[in-house]
Amino acid sequence: MIINGKEISQKIKDQLKIQINELKQQKKRVPLLAVVLVGHDQASEVYVRNKVKACEYIGIASQVIRKENNCTQDELLSIIEKLNKDVHVDGILVQLPLPAHIDEEIIIRSINPDKDVDGFHPINVAKLFLNEEGFIPCTPHGMMVMLDEIGYNPGGKEVVVVGRSNIVGKPVSLLMLHKNATVTIAHSYTTHLKEITQRADVLITAVGKAKFFDQSYIKEGAVVLDVGINRDENGKLCGDCNYQDMAEKAYAITPVPGGVGPMTIAMLMTNTLLAYHRRSYGI
Ligand code: NDP
Repeated sequence: MIINGKEISQKIKDQLKIQINELKQQKKRVPLLAVVLVGHDQASEVYVRNKVKACEYIGIASQVIRKENNCTQDELLSIIEKLNKDVHVDGILVQLPLPAHIDEEIIIRSINPDKDVDGFHPINVAKLFLNEEGFIPCTPHGMMVMLDEIGYNPGGKEVVVVGRSNIVGKPVSLLMLHKNATVTIAHSYTTHLKEITQRADVLITAVGKAKFFDQSYIKEGAVVLDVGINRDENGKLCGDCNYQDMAEKAYAITPVPGGVGPMTIAMLMTNTLLAYHRRSYGI
């Protein structure tokens, strides 16, 4: 089974669009997402464009604040402070990576946790750890929704996550744990990686290495969620998994492109509407 992230994310965006239309019919204001982009990183430009496009499709208002590469940390902090205080702004997203002279951790910590739709602020990280309501980082959240969509309950299953980053590996491991999976987190110091991944009922690959995994890494009937976005030897977009090869052995697998990637934006939109509702009604 191909887990079609494009289709699932479209479904989510269409549901959100209906909710925004209802707000408009009730003459209520619509949510506003503020995106801060520093510099001209090509990938970041594409990500921001796609986020704005998704907002436009759904009917969420968006505001992009562009700053040149030489923007200072203090300037950026004062922009965020303004956005924190602006009652019309529901969600704030600072596109990463930031130029090297700016400390990302300081910037992330300066965002009001109630507007932190990326879910990277330590308060939201702690809430995820405690399984309390906060903002769940978009990519891991998207993967959980995908499993739900195919009717797969990870409860009691062996989930192996390869990669331990703060934005993907660690949060998805916690989400899986909260769903009662038995979770193993592997990383670059892991020995006998294959023996571990072969045990997985669900394998999540988030290493950022083109076609690193083939079918020898999985058991028959495993579910594979491929987070990686890489370029292969021909410059074509590909995941961490050799998709064609693993699809023969897996029960279900996400393609790249068109798998986990589109889910990230759909969950960002979901978080923005959630921020709006929490701020508007105090729920
Ligand atoms: P990071 O580079 O932060 O983390 C990579 C992880 O992989 C690290 O934990 C590293 O281990 C581990 N790793 C590297 N090599 C190996 C190896 N040989 N064996 C086992 N583990 C290894 O990446 P991110 O988590 O930010 O992203 C991972 C991939 O996902 C990238 O391709 C990125 O582009 C993509 N991505 C996709 C998103 C989407 O929307 N689909 C969103 C975010 C990321 P160690 O900690 O020991 O260094």
